[in-house]
Amino acid sequence: MARHIYIHIPFCERKCAYCSFYSIADRSLEKDYFDALRKEIGFIGKTIALYPDRNDDLKDTIYFGGGTPSCVSSDEITDVLRLVLETFSIGADAEITIEANPNSLTYDKARSYREAGFNRISIGVQSLTDEVLKTLGRLHDREGALAAIKAAREAGFSNISADLMTGVPGQTTDDILRDAKELIDSGVTHISMYSLSIEEGTLFEKRYGKDIEEYISQEEDREMYHSLRSFLKENGYIPYEISNCALKGFESVHNGSYWRGCEYFGLGSGARGYMNGKRYSKGDDVKAYISEPAFIEIEEVMDADSKIHEYAMLMLRTSDGIDAGEFKRQFGKDLKEVFSQEIEKDKKAGLLEEDTKGIRLTEKGLDFANIVFEDFL
Ligand code: SF4
Repeated sequence: MARHIYIHIPFCERKCAYCSFYSIADRSLEKDYFDALRKEIGFIGKTIALYPDRNDDLKDTIYFGGGTPSCVSSDEITDVLRLVLETFSIGADAEITIEANPNSLTYDKARSYREAGFNRISIGVQSLTDEVLKTLGRLHDREGALAAIKAAREAGFSNISADLMTGVPGQTTDDILRDAKELIDSGVTHISMYSLSIEEGTLFEKRYGKDIEEYISQEEDREMYHSLRSFLKENGYIPYEISNCALKGFESVHNGSYWRGCEYFGLGSGARGYMNGKRYSKGDDVKAYISEPAFIEIEEVMDADSKIHEYAMLMLRTSDGIDAGEFKRQFGKDLKEVFSQEIEKDKKAGLLEEDTKGIRLTEKGLDFANIVFEDFL
């Protein structure tokens, strides 16, 4: 019986040039925000009987994401975690993650997180090449990123994830491989890889226009991605999902719960959640959240068909792909009957491979994953 909980902390020190996530740099609302978050948790606590535990075989997970959870008071963060642990009766072996940025993560903060019960930290490194960090508009440099990883380790975190971005104008494959080597040497146990994309309303959109290919080609980005993935694999970091590599035993359980279609609570402004078959949003407005923390907007009611299609699309992101036996157990249908046309089409195109266990993306399929996902959705 597992519970999965996502808590959004929508504050950042400054907006990065490429980012379209919901976050604000105005910290004057911080105290009111945490009071509202405590109210929301209290409200869920009173109604928790309406939300049955899901019988997935994963551990419980709690994930504080953002925004930048490490830029706000660590007392507020640890107090909210205490309240969540009290309210949701979370298993002792739960994976409890906090996202942090190098610029705001100190040893003292990391230590207080660890003492409060966080056992996994995800650090927004993005790059260890100063020129690339400048282009991205990050507040930290290479030294700062390595210092943050060291602080997390010394504070007692042994499960440390770092993000790396590829496809940044001016970045080279040599840069990304050098960064990966340094991250491995620094002791991180998990690396997430993201390709830069130009999002609406960002500074990058103004700077580069919609077409990033004028500045860095798709081929260059793909070369960086595959070189990074292979390098990590050679060094024991298993590419267990299209954007994630980890040492054995350090795969993200929380993200795994999303890919497997598990339900989860989403708390806080900017959060999304999925409960009782309904996908909902908490809205992207800190002030509105403070005045009405229990507000939710239903975005989608998942019927049996949409659950099947979403499950297939998300599981294809993982290196295991879709297990036909598990599919039958969950949905009572044969994978090959439900998706016969899609499987044939994508196998013919060399994007999917099939064996007695099930189906998964090929190496070529990794580059055209969106086409496959669209077919299965
Ligand atoms: S720190 Fe993260 S969430 Fe905040 S603006 Fe930068 S990329 Fe976005």
